[in-house]
Amino acid sequence: MNKEEFVSEVSKLGLNLTPEQLNMLDTYAKFLIEYNSHTNLTAITEENQIYLKHFYDSITIIKAIDLTKIDNLIDIGTGAGFPGMVIKILFPTIKVTLLDSNNKKINFLQELGNKLNLADINYYHGRAEEFVQNNREKFSLVTARAVSNLTTLSELCLPLTKLNGYFIPLKGSNEEEINDSLNAIKKLGGSIENIIKFTLPYEESTRNIIKIKKINTTPKEYPRRYDKIVKYPLK
Ligand code: SAH
Repeated sequence: MNKEEFVSEVSKLGLNLTPEQLNMLDTYAKFLIEYNSHTNLTAITEENQIYLKHFYDSITIIKAIDLTKIDNLIDIGTGAGFPGMVIKILFPTIKVTLLDSNNKKINFLQELGNKLNLADINYYHGRAEEFVQNNREKFSLVTARAVSNLTTLSELCLPLTKLNGYFIPLKGSNEEEINDSLNAIKKLGGSIENIIKFTLPYEESTRNIIKIKKINTTPKEYPRRYDKIVKYPLK
């Protein structure tokens, strides 16, 4: 997907990017490629692929939620900023927290944020399950892409989600994984409101965006320690 194709596909999603935003994305792609040559951030390093599999894919979250109504969000396991940093560039008034346990990725994002003059970003190096201890139910929107299976991810993310807020993971084609997580989501106070299934343009791979509403407070015993979350998945 070249830049012209990107602009056209994004406009089909209902978003018209300003020249300034396109410049910022251009700087982002170039800086990602350069940085990745000495520090491993992502396997996708070709510019057209970055526009499709990182930028466009991140923006598809607007199929699930009107981001102009969101005041704060956290992106769990943001990596090189997907989808959190892309959302910040497109919706700069949202207070965004970018969290990752890998400090190289957080350092990259901090340098990028400075280059782009972005304000109101909290860069957090640490593990999601530890961050929850002081930030329970603080976020209107919690996002995550390609971090872990939906059961594990729900235990990390739903405790951070405000009552009546949303946890919206961006997922691939594994629908069995979604069925396996239904009880866990319920126990953690969530309820699936909608699943938006589509194929990515130009390469036809399946995506599922899962819109989970926080309808009950998460019981205090969650999240458990990470080894327990993984060893004894909620059922
Ligand atoms: N969201 C990005 C990165 C995916 S890779 C993208 O879609 O491209 C998964 C990232 O999650 C890695 O950077 C890893 O460091 C981070 N991660 C995994 N488990 C985590 C946890 N429990 N807390 C914080 N970060 C975590």
